[in-house]
Amino acid sequence: MDRVALVTGSARGIGRAIALRLARDGFKVVVNDIDVTGEAEAVVKEIQAASGEALALAADVSRPDQVKALVDRTVASVGRLDVLVNNACIARDNLLLRISDDEWSQTLAINLTGTFLCTRAAIRVMMKQRYGRIINMSSVVGLYGNAGQAHYAASKAGIIGFTRSVAKEYGGRGITVNAVAPGYIETPMTAGFTTDARQALLTQIPLGRAGLPEEVAGVVAFLASPDASYVNGQVISVDGGMN
Ligand code: NAD
Repeated sequence: MDRVALVTGSARGIGRAIALRLARDGFKVVVNDIDVTGEAEAVVKEIQAASGEALALAADVSRPDQVKALVDRTVASVGRLDVLVNNACIARDNLLLRISDDEWSQTLAINLTGTFLCTRAAIRVMMKQRYGRIINMSSVVGLYGNAGQAHYAASKAGIIGFTRSVAKEYGGRGITVNAVAPGYIETPMTAGFTTDARQALLTQIPLGRAGLPEEVAGVVAFLASPDASYVNGQVISVDGGMN
């Protein structure tokens, strides 16, 4: 039986690395992003060029109607849904007093509500299969906080409480739910950091360097593999020993 993985926000960055890695591990991969015409199509082509199977499906994870359509189309196209990786996010740094109502709502809507909507839709399919793996992308910022990221940190901390609760609710149905908390990873999201910000971060990392998207993807691949069959409700940090 071919296992199927859906990775949200996988047109670039960590999501892209996860999609490529899961395809290499034998999963049929659904590459989701808000727009799938450019980078997401390139991810699909890269998987297919390596003899893997993938398709791109556009959906805004903060929209219930689009999330339902995404999961329905996944099952209609590839027959099942074994692994959901809730990876899509936005991060618009701002000090608390400058965070607008819209910025707050949008961050929570995409990062946290998006995780809830995708999980709820996927769990329905996974319960029928009596098998599922849900992997939620949190952050060290969700564990320890960070100045200038109160909204992002709240969304990432929310994901941890959500992960632990859903893990308790659906463990009996053969579904595991875990979170990964990356530290400072080199992606388009962090490419805009100033040299000073970069240096300040590096001094906090015992390994003395930023992580690569592939190093996060490796941990996600473990959680999606049979080796992680007894891992449930956990948050695994991938941060070079930062915290
Ligand atoms: P990124 O910004 O490079 O990629 C995020 C992807 O999500 C983009 O392709 C974007 O188009 C997509 N996306 C945004 N809104 C969406 C929506 N509404 N619906 C569907 N897709 C949407 O980010 P990244 O650095 O690759 O981060 C990936 C995940 O890892 C995020 O959850 C992030 O919080 C987490 N993370 C990253 C770092 C880091 O240092 N890069 C650290 C900790 C946690």
